[in-house]
Amino acid sequence: MRVVALGLSCNSACVFCAQGELRATARPVDPTAALAAIVPGDVVALVGGEPTIDPRLVDHVREAHARGASRVIVQTNGRRLAYRAYARELAAASDRLAFDVSLAGSTEAMHDYHTSTPGSFAQTVRGLANVVAEGRPAAVTVVVTRSNFRHLVDVVRLAARLGARAVQLAIAQPVGAAARAADRVVPAPELASPHLAASVDEARRLGLGVVVAGSAAPDDARGWFAGFGEVEDVPLPAPRVRPAVAGSAPGRATVPLGRPAPGRDEVRAHDRRTGADLEALFPDLFPEAASAPAPRRAAGAG
Ligand code: SF4
Repeated sequence: MRVVALGLSCNSACVFCAQGELRATARPVDPTAALAAIVPGDVVALVGGEPTIDPRLVDHVREAHARGASRVIVQTNGRRLAYRAYARELAAASDRLAFDVSLAGSTEAMHDYHTSTPGSFAQTVRGLANVVAEGRPAAVTVVVTRSNFRHLVDVVRLAARLGARAVQLAIAQPVGAAARAADRVVPAPELASPHLAASVDEARRLGLGVVVAGSAAPDDARGWFAGFGEVEDVPLPAPRVRPAVAGSAPGRATVPLGRPAPGRDEVRAHDRRTGADLEALFPDLFPEAASAPAPRRAAGAG
C-alpha cells in the first residue's frame, strides 16, 4: 500500500476526525515525490483531508495509473462526487480507480450531525451512487461512534443499496477532534460490540466484504485497502458482554431495529408543548382550526 497524501484540507468538520484542528493550520502538500515513487503493481491510496477538493486530483489519478498502479483508491467523503460530471471525469481517468466513501449514518440527521455539515448526507449518497453508476467499485467506511452504533445494520443496508461492494467499520478513537469530545463520540465497547457483530452478519448476508478496524486512525484504517472489495475475516473486538438472543446463530447477537435506546448518561426529554403550540408549529395539521372562527374570550379574562 502506497499512501499519497494530498493535504489535510477538508470541506467537512467531522466530530471524529483524526486530524482535528490540524486541518486549520495545514499547509498544502506537494504529492510530486510520492507519486514519482509509485512502482508497477502498487496499490495507491490518495488521501486527505478530502482529496476531491484538490483541483489536480484527476491528474494525480492519471499519473498513478500511468506509473502502473494495480489499484488507485480515493478515500473521500463523497460530497463533490455528487456532481455527476466530476464523478464521470474521475472515473474516466483510470479503469483501476476505486472509491472509499465515508458514511456516518443511515439518515440525513445522523450523518450530518457527525460531519457538522448540513446537506452532506444527500451529497455523499448521491456521490456514491454516481461513481457506482460510472462503473467504478466503491466501498463504504463507517466510523462507529456513540451516536451511530445502534444503527450500524441500517448503515450497512444503505451502503449495499447504493452499490458498495464492501464496508469497513472503524471504531472511533479519542484522537484529533474526538479527543476533546470523547464522552460523546467514542462508544463503549461492551455496548457497541453486539451491534458490530450484527452489522458484520448483515454485510455478509448481503454479499459485502466487511472489515472491522480497531481504529479510525489513518494508518490503521488504510490497511484494509489491500483487500478492497474482498470478504475478509477480521476478528471483532472482544466484548465484555455479548448477549445471546433467541433464534440467532451461536455466538452472534442480532439487534432488533426500532427506536434507539438512549446511551449511557444520555438525558432525553421532550419539551412539553401545548395544543396551541403545535397548531402554531404545524398549521397544516389543523385545517379546521385555521378556518374556524376565533374562540370567544371568557368574560373577565385578561
Ligand atoms: S474525517 Fe475525513 S471527511 Fe471528516 S473532517 Fe476529517 S478529513 Fe474531512
